[in-house]
Amino acid sequence: MAQATFTGGEHQQMEYVPLMSGHKIPLVGLGTWKSSSQATNSVSTAIAELGYRHVDTAAEYGVQKEVGRGLKAAIHAGVERKHLFVTSKIWCSDLSPERVRLAFNRTLQDLQLEYLDLYLIHWPFHLKEGASRPPKAGEVTEFDMEGVWREMEKLVNEKLVRDIGVCNFTIKKLNNLLNVAHIKPSVCQAYSPLGSQEGGRDLVHDPEVDRVAEKLNKTPGQVLVKWALQRGTSVIPKSTNPDHLKENINVFDWAIPQQDFEALSNIKNQKRELDGEILFVNKSDGPLKSVADVWDNED
Ligand code: NDP
Repeated sequence: MAQATFTGGEHQQMEYVPLMSGHKIPLVGLGTWKSSSQATNSVSTAIAELGYRHVDTAAEYGVQKEVGRGLKAAIHAGVERKHLFVTSKIWCSDLSPERVRLAFNRTLQDLQLEYLDLYLIHWPFHLKEGASRPPKAGEVTEFDMEGVWREMEKLVNEKLVRDIGVCNFTIKKLNNLLNVAHIKPSVCQAYSPLGSQEGGRDLVHDPEVDRVAEKLNKTPGQVLVKWALQRGTSVIPKSTNPDHLKENINVFDWAIPQQDFEALSNIKNQKRELDGEILFVNKSDGPLKSVADVWDNED
């Protein structure tokens, strides 16, 4: 894919790739899950001081108002909205055609924006409002994929969103979507590049990551972000720590040698950490009775 390079003042360099719409996604973005009240500061520092141009959030993270304030501060500090790339996601309880517009409008209002760059389906299942974790009988259902997508396409046609996409879709579900989509999904989001947070896998302290980091005189966080980039994806590490924020974007003027890249790709005991079990699996009543059901037996 063609890449454009941008260098601005003391900011870190940023690289981009074009999406289906022709709009460019900055290859490193800032994740905001569990950023809580620190989201405002981390978003404004990341954009206004460090050169981030891409922020990933979601209605379900409960931080959109904080993210919105951070975006506003960064814009106030002189970064133009047109140079930012903001992603949000529709949550499972809003995953029906009649609720897409309402959910989207709430997100736009919380973020204090007039349009989104990318709007994603967060997970491909409908959850009853206020569903328990794990869900009780009847709280998880299939969703009307075609109906929901049609509503998301309307947002694109009305220029309220530039690209639309999905997360946590299997190949089977992607194929179902491609069969009905008039506007194709631009993104199937990959996430948690550092192994996620509490309860995830601490890749930052993995011995192989450590070895490569020492060899290259980089931090483990940088090695993990760079591995994802060299693998050919964009990447959205979350941090609210200023040192980590700086590290995670300083990844464009060096490379992981092929042999080390392969060693990282072959780290032992690989498995999906965020498997959706607690959100969607009801072992006795279903419809998803196991993690394998959530992932259409593709894992
Ligand atoms: P990450 O893999 O990004 O890891 C975040 C953790 O790593 C935090 O504890 C953070 O702590 C720490 N960290 C960040 N940078 C460094 C560094 N350089 N060195 C050491 N530690 C570091 O986890 P997430 O699960 O948050 O994934 C990233 C983003 O992806 C989310 O925030 C969200 O935006 C998105 N996401 C999307 C999902 C989906 O279903 N579509 C699911 C999960 C995530 P600290 O803040 O202290 O730096």
